[in-house]
Amino acid sequence: MKCQPTASHFINGQYVEDTAGDVIECVYPATGEVVAKVHSATPAIVDQAISAAQSAQKEWAKLSGTERGRVLKRAAEIMRERNHALSELETYDTGKPMQETLYVDATSGADALEYFGGLAGSLTGEHIPLGEDWVYTKRIPLGVCVGIGAWNYPTQIACWKGAPAMACGNSMIFKPSETTPLCALKVAEILMEAGAPAGLYNVVQGYGDVGGALVTDERVDKVSLTGSAATGKKVYAAAAAGMKHVTMELGGKSPLIIFDDASLEDAIGGAMLGNFYSTGQVCSNGTRVFVQKGIKDAFLKRLKERTEAIKLGDPLDEDTQFGPMVSRNQRDIVMGFVERGKAEGATLVTGGNAIDGDGFYIEPTVFADVTDDMTIAREEIFGPVMSVFEFETEEEVIARANDTDLGLAGGVFTNDIKRAHRVIDLMDAGTCFINSYNDAPVEAPFGGVKGSGVGRENSKAAIEHYSQLKTVYVRMGPVDSPY
Ligand code: NDP
Repeated sequence: MKCQPTASHFINGQYVEDTAGDVIECVYPATGEVVAKVHSATPAIVDQAISAAQSAQKEWAKLSGTERGRVLKRAAEIMRERNHALSELETYDTGKPMQETLYVDATSGADALEYFGGLAGSLTGEHIPLGEDWVYTKRIPLGVCVGIGAWNYPTQIACWKGAPAMACGNSMIFKPSETTPLCALKVAEILMEAGAPAGLYNVVQGYGDVGGALVTDERVDKVSLTGSAATGKKVYAAAAAGMKHVTMELGGKSPLIIFDDASLEDAIGGAMLGNFYSTGQVCSNGTRVFVQKGIKDAFLKRLKERTEAIKLGDPLDEDTQFGPMVSRNQRDIVMGFVERGKAEGATLVTGGNAIDGDGFYIEPTVFADVTDDMTIAREEIFGPVMSVFEFETEEEVIARANDTDLGLAGGVFTNDIKRAHRVIDLMDAGTCFINSYNDAPVEAPFGGVKGSGVGRENSKAAIEHYSQLKTVYVRMGPVDSPY
């Protein structure tokens, strides 16, 4: 098999197998071919991973931040050196075209390792003078962190969670989605090669039950999940029972508002990036595109032309712009939404078909005349389906944009600078864009409000979610006790 790893899990610095676990087939989404098989973790494997992470964490936390950072930065260099091979593996794991994976997967993982490697030496507490006495604070690690990933960005998610965790002196056990088990193993291998101690970064495979076993183990101190809002509620509740720290990066139904003074080509480019990149499998996608009445017809006409010119095909061909859905199951879910859209009266502008063959392809799809109560307007589709709504006034569109339980992202296209900031200010969203869409540099906090989650990934903000403060009061004079 093309992508068979040495073994299923990576624990305590080495590949580990336990064939007693259920078989997980890794399917290349472009052809349906099985390219690797791994086994789900048994309770013994989960136990080994947690024990290894616990021992490694104690030693790792004794190093200086600069020493820890050096390992992460070396890992970033190795990732960049191997970008081509890692991108190819990401393409086999997810089906995303090489045109994307060469630029945004291992590279953004390396960015996270480099950025948090750089920050590691500067994580300090505070000195608080109180006359003669004083207080100092120490920034201390949380302990053993569990990362649970979705299948859309397996390398990036493994690094976005691992890099800040390790920079702060924690260890990590990462469970990839069973749909994309391969890439995180490479991240673990590279970290070892870069000098990470055995057990610092472990990978265990499995379905939700393995994630559940990790989350409820009392030796685990923190859980960071990237997944759907429904899974987020379950994992958050399970973590709460053990009073564990959490980061929840969940789904969205984000609005993209386009005013009639916007640059039409830029706005269409933003809407296409925010709906068709990674075949629409991006949590922050602006899937509700509100277009002001004056430009709606021109917008739809040009959007249709540009969408129909997208080059769909073999993801390994670097000219291909659009690959398959990650799995047969996800393709079927998305096609179900397309059928609901048609049945509920939305106008199909372009696309709407699954493509015959062994791969899990769907055409990039645009619906117009979508109303706020339709299923495609309310539920996260997680596929290449753009819904276009018409609006007239700023006040009206803000109310409609915020009419959702989710709040991951949102964007506005306009050339009126005051309006841009006014609209963003009123938008219920954690990650916003003005005249752009879906940029996610490691320097900027990323995360949602409302049902889209808690905590932030990336940037200095992530440090708050992977460390805690110890407060130390120091008295210089006698203790004035009334007893
Ligand atoms: P799921 O919520 O189905 O799964 C996410 C992960 O959680 C998987 O590894 C899954 O394992 C695991 N899991 C499922 N149930 C449990 C449980 N009870 N306890 C512990 N772990 C569990 O999401 P998908 O993989 O389908 O990913 C798509 C979703 O992820 C979308 O909603 C998308 O918006 C969101 N997402 C959010 C991002 C963000 O940063 N905000 C970024 C990317 C995606 P298994 O797959 O084996 O069931």
